[in-house]
Amino acid sequence: MIRKILIANRGEIALRIVRACRELGIQTLAVYSEADEQSLHVQLADEAICIGPASGAESYLRADRILSAAEIADVDAIHPGYGFLSENEEFAEQCASCNINFIGPKAETIGKMGDKAMARETVSKAGVPIIPGSDGPIENEKDAIKVAQKIGFPVIIKAVAGGGGRGMRIAHNAVSFAKEFQSARLEATKAFGNGALYVEKYLENPRHIEFQVLADKHGNVIHLGERDCSVQRRHQKVIEEAPSPFLDKNLRTRMGKAAIKATNAADYVNAGTIEFLVDSKGNFYFIEMNTRIQVEHAVTEEVTGIDLIKEQINIASGNRLSISQKEITFDKHAIECRICAENPSNGFAPSPGTIGLYYAPGGHGVRVDSHVYGGYTVSPYYDSMIAKLVTYGRTRKIALDRMYRALSEYIIRGIDTNIEFLKAIVLDPGFRQGEATTSYVEEFLARAPKDVFKKSQ
Ligand code: ADP
Repeated sequence: MIRKILIANRGEIALRIVRACRELGIQTLAVYSEADEQSLHVQLADEAICIGPASGAESYLRADRILSAAEIADVDAIHPGYGFLSENEEFAEQCASCNINFIGPKAETIGKMGDKAMARETVSKAGVPIIPGSDGPIENEKDAIKVAQKIGFPVIIKAVAGGGGRGMRIAHNAVSFAKEFQSARLEATKAFGNGALYVEKYLENPRHIEFQVLADKHGNVIHLGERDCSVQRRHQKVIEEAPSPFLDKNLRTRMGKAAIKATNAADYVNAGTIEFLVDSKGNFYFIEMNTRIQVEHAVTEEVTGIDLIKEQINIASGNRLSISQKEITFDKHAIECRICAENPSNGFAPSPGTIGLYYAPGGHGVRVDSHVYGGYTVSPYYDSMIAKLVTYGRTRKIALDRMYRALSEYIIRGIDTNIEFLKAIVLDPGFRQGEATTSYVEEFLARAPKDVFKKSQ
């Protein structure tokens, strides 16, 4: 039995976890940086402890301070959310050695699947298709270029420890390869403290389609269907939806089976995501596994009716999954827009500052997950996402019309946001017809009139 959970995160995901715990009758401890004292997750948790200055490196990434807080407050579990320490093998190990239940997979699984080259090898051995590429990391440029020539250009050079679209470079020919290889190595070293790289065939205009999986400690593994996350800017997701407008029943079944195979091959426990790229012919390839809850988990919750955070806690408590594969049904469509404090008219530059008037949309089929409110100051220290707006309904059209309506109702004064940009996409015929691939946003921006995203306040 879990009595009390420390939430090692901030923002909307920390609040999301507080809410699930409250419904389960579990006590919560929020840890926060000096910049986050006003955040809703701090105000709504049962207890809160400040763990350091604003910078993530001095607060949310400080395992020692988080574990001290856990000891002082006598918690028996830690939920890491996403980002920060959520995919840190050492942190999961430290939790275990402090006798604290880490709500996620085993530390060794995080290590194995967090290394993208090792993850490729693991699932490929189990018969899950991977994109043609190098067998493991490549030490030097000379070997890498040989692999690139063998698989054929264009290729993508990726960081073994990659995440958040960083440490990734596309090379279109042998001439540009050396430069891209060096710059990927530099970025990977800086971002992850690990410059190891591997090379993969670069797929032109694929769709990014991922499967949510759940696995308990008794060997039960299920999937909760897919999310289409093809609408991306610089390899970062902007809009996600479930189900994918591209999949038919047959392809969904085949990909679901492959997702379960990959989960079993990883000897996985808890909630995870198997990410695939899918080409225009419906060929699909594993790209990576995320060993944590995802930002976009809410769309799966709205189409399946399953609370993924509660399932995570249930699994970590040692219980069996509360549902079987047969009980998972998808009779709705859900869409999520990431609302960010940024200015699309100025290269999407971050726009921190104090929010003035704030009014979040509501009504039938609308969900807003956010830690902000009027008078809240958006800090420049963290990710620019300030809310997730999710709409759902019986059909994709209903969910889309509802999204446009909800975006139009959203009032956030005092800072710039990407709301007008999202509205323009939701109205765009290409997106509405379900044609978006991972190059959609780039093409959309190239044809959009310059001042189209300006707020009309
Ligand atoms: P990260 O962990 O940094 O998010 P991923 O491996 O999940 O990186 O890839 C992020 C995105 O990058 C994908 O959704 C896709 O748009 C693009 N991408 C990754 N690998 C390839 C590839 N081989 N071909 C084409 N696009 C790719």
